Amino acid sequence: MSHPRPGRASVVTRPFWEATAEGRFLIQRCGACHKAAFYPRPACPHCGSAELGWEDACGAATVHTFSIARRPTHPKFTGDEPYVVAIVELAEGPHVTTNIVECDPDDVWIGMPVELVFDEVGDDGYALALFRPT
Ligand SMILES: [Zn+2]
Repeated sequence: MSHPRPGRASVVTRPFWEATAEGRFLIQRCGACHKAAFYPRPACPHCGSAELGWEDACGAATVHTFSIARRPTHPKFTGDEPYVVAIVELAEGPHVTTNIVECDPDDVWIGMPVELVFDEVGDDGYALALFRPT
């Protein structure tokens, strides 16, 4: 599988992407309001504080919503269809846009427990975070 990559990581997103090469999924935790956040950003989406630190997500999540792509939405997905594009809710709370893999797309359901699995590390040194049924 050679899916589109994230491109050049910014100073804000680089810690997240570098951790993916080690099989780690980092979220941010606010030092002011203590809420978790994803995707990487310079200020807390809940209170606006810049006191964001990194922590490892445990990898457990549930399917919040999903769609089955029966035609490729990008040439690099040709041959993968049908595939599942989903938003999962991490155990820590934040939502992540991802793919559900290692199952029949018709077996995916809202509320389904899933776990983190990484795609291969690409030439850029980063891996894509995917989820599979537990
Ligand atoms: Zn905050």
